[in-house]
Amino acid sequence: MLRIDILTVVPELLESPFNHSIVSRAKKSGIVEVYIHDIREFGKGNYKQTDDYSYGGDAGMVMTIEPIYRIISKLKSERVYDEIIYMSPDGELLNQNIANQISCFHNIIILAGHYKGIDHRIREHLITREISIGDYVLSGGEIPAAILSDAVIRLLPGALSDETSALSDSFQDGLLSPPVYTRPAEFNGWKVPEVLLSGNPKLIKEWQDNQSIERTKRLRPNLLKERD
Ligand code: SAH
Repeated sequence: MLRIDILTVVPELLESPFNHSIVSRAKKSGIVEVYIHDIREFGKGNYKQTDDYSYGGDAGMVMTIEPIYRIISKLKSERVYDEIIYMSPDGELLNQNIANQISCFHNIIILAGHYKGIDHRIREHLITREISIGDYVLSGGEIPAAILSDAVIRLLPGALSDETSALSDSFQDGLLSPPVYTRPAEFNGWKVPEVLLSGNPKLIKEWQDNQSIERTKRLRPNLLKERD
């Protein structure tokens, strides 16, 4: 069982991604628990302030230490966390290896930033890992947190109905997945490759492996280099 605690100032942004399809089913069957915490509830004063002007006078607000410190301290007093992750464009780039690794954990916290980001001291003293979903900047860490969670949750045993199906996905063995087809066998004159209709598992597997290698060479040659 994996427990994910997500900290955010915009909990609404995280409603839909966790309430449909595979992720929602995984929650219902008790494979994963996801708790969304509104940092504002720990904010300061009547306005529940969670951000402030940046020292040095740069444009944009910065998320303050205190509310985040209070939630993290509370959560840490309740259980041991394997990792406290901050979603950040300058973190390590998310890939399948990282998702595999995190899928073996029991408790993680994911902090979503907003505005200009979070006070750097949070990163220095509270965060244990920083992950980026790509070299571009989004307005908040909520979608990145949902992306990381989705990549991890679908790997949990029992999350996918066919357990082998996560293993045959792209990147699991450093290769892209072969093309997939379903009925009808012919549409508009567009045919499914003959071999897939042959009923010969050995030939089919050979074809799929060749397709994987060919597609990886052509589309993502860097993956082959990383495998060596
Ligand atoms: N000023 C920051 C960007 C802040 S964007 C910088 O230049 O690095 C606001 C928030 O969105 C960040 O705190 C982070 O949590 C999230 N975010 C934006 N882009 C992201 C990315 N590529 N990966 C992960 N999180 C991202």
